[in-house]
Amino acid sequence: MSEEVLSFEEAIEKYDPVLGFEVHVELNTKTKMFDSAPNEFGDEPNTNVTPVSLGLPGALPMVNKTAVESAIKLGLALGCDIADKSYFARKNYFYPDSPKNFQTSQAGGPIAENGSLDVELEDGTIFTVEIERAHMEEDAGKLTHVGGADGRIQGATSSLVDYNRAGVPLIEIVTRPIVGAGERAPELARAYVAAIRDIVRSLGISDARMERGNVRCDANVSLMPKGAEKFGTRSETKNVNSLRSVERAVRYEIRRHAAILERGEKVTQETRHWHEDTRETSSGRPKSDADDYRYFPEPDLVPVVTNSEWIERLRAELPEPPAERRRRLKGEWGYSDEEFRDVVNASALDVIEETVAAGATAAAARKWWMGEIARRAKQAEVELTALGVEPATVVALEALISEGKINDKIARQVLEFVLAGEGTPAEIVEARGLAVVSDDGALTAAVQEALAAMPDVADKIRAGKVQAAGAIVGQVMKATRGQADAARVRELILAECGVEG
Ligand code: ADP
Ligand code: MG
Repeated sequence: MSEEVLSFEEAIEKYDPVLGFEVHVELNTKTKMFDSAPNEFGDEPNTNVTPVSLGLPGALPMVNKTAVESAIKLGLALGCDIADKSYFARKNYFYPDSPKNFQTSQAGGPIAENGSLDVELEDGTIFTVEIERAHMEEDAGKLTHVGGADGRIQGATSSLVDYNRAGVPLIEIVTRPIVGAGERAPELARAYVAAIRDIVRSLGISDARMERGNVRCDANVSLMPKGAEKFGTRSETKNVNSLRSVERAVRYEIRRHAAILERGEKVTQETRHWHEDTRETSSGRPKSDADDYRYFPEPDLVPVVTNSEWIERLRAELPEPPAERRRRLKGEWGYSDEEFRDVVNASALDVIEETVAAGATAAAARKWWMGEIARRAKQAEVELTALGVEPATVVALEALISEGKINDKIARQVLEFVLAGEGTPAEIVEARGLAVVSDDGALTAAVQEALAAMPDVADKIRAGKVQAAGAIVGQVMKATRGQADAARVRELILAECGVEG
């Protein structure tokens, strides 16, 4: 049932939103957090399991070193202090997605603390988000509810469980409460999650595919009367896994909280579920600040001990931060704000960078990847880079164009033949005889033929109506199957008719 909501504008006029995000990042390590089972998405259910992932009695966990290194790198990228010693604990709860009946998590002693992240909003405003901590933990298995509507547990007749994901390494990044975003709170939510996604992707520690749940956000929202300092009661919308949904969920919760407060009622502290179909949240479970998870230190694992040499080695391996890289590339390429934003939104940054590195100009690289190649990718319903066009192909096509061998139109045809596996652009132009005809002898003959075929037009041109030459150019282009150099054809027409261009 839908709840009452206030308009967003009115809500923001009366209340200041406070936000807090808990983002879970699934790492792309070869094996799981505490055992040797493969960390693979999409395999047959319950094939990537060991006694440890199944929580069988007597099975002993062991910490995945690569996961620890990933956590340290992420901590460093977020400007955090890396703990000398951090600890795993058992967070006890009973639910069928966890065969151990507890989650192993760094609840009390996170590996990374006290960082911050500069988040860039659409108009270039920088908003600094403070990071409270980033800690390591493990994912739960996946439940599939059968027999109900939309796969929900309500109304289901049975449930299936897949433990392939149980024990997959996670890093949870928790922000401090974020105040002052005002009407930009939904936009900030989206930009924050996008920034985290970009960082983990640039670090290479996660596949960062939100549609697969590699990056999931719990969005905490509360409102306080404008100008107040004491935070209101928060709701926590769980596992929102697209940027668009994060923005919408925060916006919706602001509107819902505002309606409750306007009625003079109290917001319930609880988890909420986001429904992309109705674009609403629904109540989950009540949640106090001190849920009784009966945390206690994991007796089967020693603390994670770091040292400065190790940390500094990992720091030296960090890539350029994504936001800095974007600023640098935008400057180097000379794109307008809008052009650059389109490139980023199309996830074409990497491939354009590769194409420029391979020798294309930034303008040419953009023209191809955002134009013809994007069009074909859309048609084929695949990602830009999944089409099979290599940066080298773009460079080769552009070289042929700038040498005057082919024009843009022919180049687009050549691309088609490249995709059909006919060879490199140069080979195709040669084999198919596609080179532009700029040999004056052949062109003059075609011009004379066209003039003879259209005597009325020819007369007009002779009388000084040079714009009439367009029809003859068209005729010649047709006769040469588009391979003529149009500018040269025009010059020849005018010369034949004895008029100045
Ligand atoms: P829990 O696991 O109980 O949700 P966490 O500490 O892991 O608690 O995360 C709570 C998140 O909510 C943090 O990002 C925190 O900054 C944020 N938060 C805390 N209080 C509020 C509040 N009143 N309004 C909005 N966000 C809040
Ligand atoms: Mg939490």
